[in-house]
Formats: sequence, C-alpha cells, structure tokens
Amino acid sequence: MFSNLHKPFIIAGPCSAESPEQLNTVAKTLSQSSNIKLLRAGIWKPRTRPNNFEGVGDVGLKWLVDAGKSYRLKTTTEVANALHVEQALKAGVDVLWIGARTTVNPFSVQEIADAIKGSNVPVLIKNPITPDLDLWVGAIERVLGAGISDVAAIHRGFSSYEKTKFRNVPKWGIPVGLMQIFPELPIICDPSHIGGNRQLIQEISQKAMDMNMVGLMVETHPDPDKALSDAAQQITPSHLLEIIKNITVRQKTPGRGKDYTLDDLRDKIDEVDSELLTALFKRFAIIDEIGTYKKEHNLTILQIERWTEILTTRTEKGMANGLTKEFIDAILKAIHKESVLRQTHILNSPID
Ligand code: PEP
Ligand code: MN
Repeated sequence: MFSNLHKPFIIAGPCSAESPEQLNTVAKTLSQSSNIKLLRAGIWKPRTRPNNFEGVGDVGLKWLVDAGKSYRLKTTTEVANALHVEQALKAGVDVLWIGARTTVNPFSVQEIADAIKGSNVPVLIKNPITPDLDLWVGAIERVLGAGISDVAAIHRGFSSYEKTKFRNVPKWGIPVGLMQIFPELPIICDPSHIGGNRQLIQEISQKAMDMNMVGLMVETHPDPDKALSDAAQQITPSHLLEIIKNITVRQKTPGRGKDYTLDDLRDKIDEVDSELLTALFKRFAIIDEIGTYKKEHNLTILQIERWTEILTTRTEKGMANGLTKEFIDAILKAIHKESVLRQTHILNSPID
C-alpha cells in the first residue's frame, strides 16, 4: 500500500464519522482526484476533555466501509485498543492508524500490535503528542515486530505549552530524525492537526513535500464549520482538490540529463564546513589556554562584560550579513555553553 507511491499520496476524510450521508458526500468529491487513495474517519475519538464529541462508535464502521466501496476508496480509521482493532478488521476497514495519544503509551501500542498480529493489515503510526523521537521509533518497532510489513508514519506535530501559530508545533527535525533511522519508511504529513486552522494547510502541505515526505492526511468535511470535532481545521473536499493542484512536488535527485552543478556546490559546502570545524578547534584550544590562565590567577569563568561584548559585536556583524538574530544567538550560546563547560573542567581539575 505504501511502497512506490505516486506523490503526493493523499488520505482524506472527516475528523469524525458523523453520518452515512456525510461520508458519502465527502467520498464522492474526493474520488475525483487520482491522488486521493484512502478515505479516513475517526470512529472512536480520543478527546482531551470528556464532554467533547467522542465519536459515533462502532456503528460508524459500516458507514465508512460502505462509502469507501461506493466510491472506490480504501478506508482507514484510528484504533486505540485491541477491541477497536477487532471491530475495525471485522467491518472490513483496509488500513488502521494509531493516534498521537496512543503512540505515547507502549502498553497500548503493544496491545494493538498483539491484536493485529497475523492480519497483515497496513498500519499508519502517528507521532506521539510529546516531542519524543524514541517513543515514535518504539511504536514503529512494536508494529513491525508484529510482522506487519506495510507501515508508514504520520507527522502531526507536537503539543507545546507555549502559544504558537500552530496547534501542534511541527518540529521538522523529529521526522527528519525518523528518516535517518528508517530511510525506507514512508512519512505522511497531517497539516490539519499541525495547523489547527484551515488557513495553514496549503503552506504546511508544501513544506512537507519540500521535506520529501510522500503524502498528506487532510481532514475534510462537507460543512467544516458544523463539524462535531476539529471544525476550525477541516476543509471541504473541493478546497482540498484546489490545495492539491497548488502543491509543487519536487524531485529528490536531478535525474537524467543531470549536470554537475549540485555536486560542485556540495563540494564547496564540504570545504566551508571543514573551515568552520577548524575554526572551532582553534577557538576551543584558546578557550582552554584562557581556562589555565584563569585557574593560575584565580579568576571567575564567567566574565559578564566580555560575554555581553561578544554577543553584541557578533550579532551586529551577523545581522549586517543577512543572518537572523535568533540564529546567531543560538550559535553563540551553544559555543559559550561549551566554553564554560571546558573551563569548568580545567579550573576544577587537580593542580599538577
Ligand atoms: C485525528 O486524526 O483525528 C486525530 C485524533 O489525530 P491525532 O491522533 O493526531 O491527534
Ligand atoms: Mn481531528
């Protein structure tokens, strides 16, 4: 199901199944796009607060499967325990997904893995709500360990206490870390749960394609503002078709007729990186000398005026050359932290 995909591979459908009509209306429009392969709908909804709509329950499974059959779409729903797996498979749902609130819990993931053993049903695994790559990796390993070969990951962003423009901050470095661990694993982005509002879906979808993800899971509803869950982030199926049209899918390699421009530029980057590292080696050697001097003269490691001067002058120079304040700040602070640590070791080592 998830190998050799034509990009972008799209999963779409409502956050929650609400009625047979709702699912049929959505599926009818979605079936017009050859990119849309899977009809999604939540049947059991893991809501943060208990009084929110918690899904229609297992009656909705038949609505989903029937809508899929009528419009030649395969279907998928979220499972959070062994009973959900049993009911979804019995109803004929084609693909299961493990939600973000379940991926955080190894007991639940293992329960699901045990329940799907032997079925060979394709499984999608959302990232955990916490920005913890290991938990995501662990959930994937548990599902692979159950003998499921058709597995893909879904990047849906991470909870954060700070208010940002996203409902769930994307932290793109985490799915990139996952790609490094599982280079063959397809990753699908869920711009609906990352954005939390429909205005952000196009931008996040494009970013996901530029990060070389294979597809998107997008919540679509016939009348998004009236949706029983996640109204602000849902879009109409025809809006999704527009979004797909506006996405630029770029290729990973130059392909045939390749010139050597990219290789040449990368050679230059290799050289500059080597200069950067040499500069750091030199800088830390001087830092160590200063450490010895401070030890001999009984001076404090932190000299606040000097640190402020470094920050100010380097920030000015960096900004004058097109770097952002945040970036220079982060680099200088990382270097300073390491310098203080090295000098701490030197000042506190036994005198020889
Ligand atoms: C969903 O897809 O509707 C859902 C509940 O997602 P998540 O697990 O990413 O919060
Ligand atoms: Mn949702």
